[in-house]
Parts: sequence; C-alpha cells; structure tokens
Amino acid sequence: MNSAMNPLAGPRVVTLGVAGGPRIWNSPDTWEAAGNSELHDARRAGIATAVVVADQVYLVDAGHSVFTQLARAGLPMSNVRGVFLTHLHSDHTIDLNNLLVFGLFETPQVPCEPIAIMGPGDRGALPPISPRATVAPIPVAAHRPTPGTAAMVDALIAAHATDLNDRILDGLRPSPTDVFRATDISIPDAVGYHPNDNPSPDMEPFEIYRDDVVTVTATLVVHPPIAPAFAFRFDTAHGSVTVSGDTRPSENLVRLARDTDLLMHEAIDFEWVQRLYGDSTDDTAKASIDHHHKSHTSAVQAGELATRAGARALLLHHLVPGNTPHSVWCRASETFAGPLHIARDLDSIPFGHVYPDAEPGANHSGPIITADQPSQTGAAGRALFQETNS
Ligand SMILES: [Zn+2]
Ligand SMILES: [Zn+2]
Repeated sequence: MNSAMNPLAGPRVVTLGVAGGPRIWNSPDTWEAAGNSELHDARRAGIATAVVVADQVYLVDAGHSVFTQLARAGLPMSNVRGVFLTHLHSDHTIDLNNLLVFGLFETPQVPCEPIAIMGPGDRGALPPISPRATVAPIPVAAHRPTPGTAAMVDALIAAHATDLNDRILDGLRPSPTDVFRATDISIPDAVGYHPNDNPSPDMEPFEIYRDDVVTVTATLVVHPPIAPAFAFRFDTAHGSVTVSGDTRPSENLVRLARDTDLLMHEAIDFEWVQRLYGDSTDDTAKASIDHHHKSHTSAVQAGELATRAGARALLLHHLVPGNTPHSVWCRASETFAGPLHIARDLDSIPFGHVYPDAEPGANHSGPIITADQPSQTGAAGRALFQETNS
C-alpha cells in the first residue's frame, strides 16, 4: 500500500501542485540569470491540494496537471469524494475538465454518492472596469459572462459531448452527470455579500459539506475583483487543515483558521512584482501591480496570520512566482514561530493526531513538519518528519 493512501497514517494533505497564477513557471527568470543558486523547483504544477482522511480524498482546487499529479501521488480517482474550488480563477480550475472526462475512466462504477464538486456560484455582475482603462474592454460570453461552478461543469461536459456521447452510447460508460454532482456554494443572506459592493464582509464560517469523515466550513476572503472567493477548513476526528485560497490578509481567514492544526496559506513575492512591472509606465503593468497588492499575501504576512490564528503549523503554497528562491518564502519564520513548511509538488504532510491504532512511526502527534531546505524534486507520497524549526 502506498503511504499516501495508508489508512493508518493519519490525516494528511498531499500538495499536488503548489504554483499560483495562470502561468507555466518552467523558464528561468532574472534570478537564475543573476546566478542565484537558490532557484529550484521551477516546474511546479498548478495549484491543487488533496486532503486525505483514511481512504477518502478531497481535492481543493484543480490547477494544471491535477489529474496527472493525483496519479503520481498514488491517490486513486475512485477514492475522491469531493472537489472544492476556492474561486474561479483559471489557475484553480483549468484541469477540472480532466477530472470530469478522463476521470470517468478511473471511476468505472457510478459511485453510491456522486463526487461532490462545490465552488462559487454565478458572480451575478461583471466587475467594474479598471479606472486605468482608456477604452472600455468588451467582455466575452456576453450572454452569460460570470458563470458559477455548476454552470462551468455543465459547459465543460457540453464541450466534450461528442466524445462523451460516443462512450456513453456505444461503450456503455457512465455519464459524468451520474458520477459528479456540481453545486454552487450558497452564501448566507445575513452576511450582506455583494460581488462588487461587499465581496468579503466580516462573517462567521459556515458549513458547506459533511460526511462520515470530514466537515468542511467556508468563509469569504479578499481577492478582488473575483467574487466570491472562499477559504475552506476541513475538520476530522483527528485534526484540522485550513486552506486560505487566494486572498490578501483576511480577518475572516484568521477566524476560520482558529487553532487549526495546519494552515495552508498562499504567498506572493511582492519584490518580484515590483521587478516585473515597477519600471513600466503602461496601464496594463500598473493594473497588474494594483491587482497583486490588493489580492495577495506575502510570506511575512502569512506568518503573522498564522500566529494570530493560533495555527499549530504553517505551510506556504500557491507560490507566485513559482520559481522564486526558497529564502523569500522562509521569511514567514520572522513572524511565525511554529513549524513552517515551504511546499513542493507531491509533498505529503500529516496534520493533527496519530490514529489510535496506527503502527509506530506511521505518524506522530504534536507539531508536524518543517522542511526548510530547498530540494530539486518532489516524490510521490513522500512524508517529511523533520522537526526542526526554520
Ligand atoms: Zn491563484
Ligand atoms: Zn486567484
């Protein structure tokens, strides 16, 4: 049995992909040109995380290569019970179609319960046009310019209908509409959410999903102009993990992550943003700088949030850019004294407490991980048990 699926190994996350942004970070940037020896892992896959509890798998986001990375991690598609989308930026959804279409071949039987796909609903209104625009841009798909999760899944299935209907009618394969059930997350009316006027009101976390091994709660975070944008928390009998989604520092996130065993937070290198766009005078570059500062979090800020939340361990992922030197992310240790982990693809990170019947060494209770040394490659199902703080 591979370690990723060992039901005695305790709850864990497997970082299927840790890069953020609608990019492939496989080309050296100015750091390497400058001879920076810390550059590593320049080919990170897109953002996607597997929360593994006993033999059940829950995906958070579906960035590029998610389906391939799931296989590399030794996590069977047939064990996936849910897919939770933090928001509908394409770096979080681009390979959802692989799960829906290729995934059918890994789920030959229609499951007793369809695989839940949960994410934001229809935005309901286009975002405001940037004040830097000199000509009003024309939106795509004007008949339905802001589809939510359920509509996106319908559209992806429809886009592959020629293939799917061949297989359903001739090959008697299951239909994706029987295997998956997509649902828009319903935001409680009382919080006063509005996509443009009030996209991230102060609120208490609310439950969106529950089964026999996990309860998933959500909150609104701050990632304008996209809305809604969620963070998720998975509580199990043996511990909890909280995933920030994309956000600038958020009070709702601190509330959601209160005393969590592991906080997985996004991080951006704002110095890279400045190097990339700072000298440019054109409005597109200025709008990009605006976006990053109002929508993302630095490593130092992520450490502050983890400390305020009382998180027992902090993992940084959704690293932007995906090829920034490791030392930039390690600055989170300036503001967070607990175990810090800088994620690489296919790391397997236990959270919470050892299962009562676990074999010795299968896991350990107490603060979990730190892996503060750069590494060139990830390894499927690798568990890291060093307990040195960085
Ligand atoms: Zn993102
Ligand atoms: Zn985003």
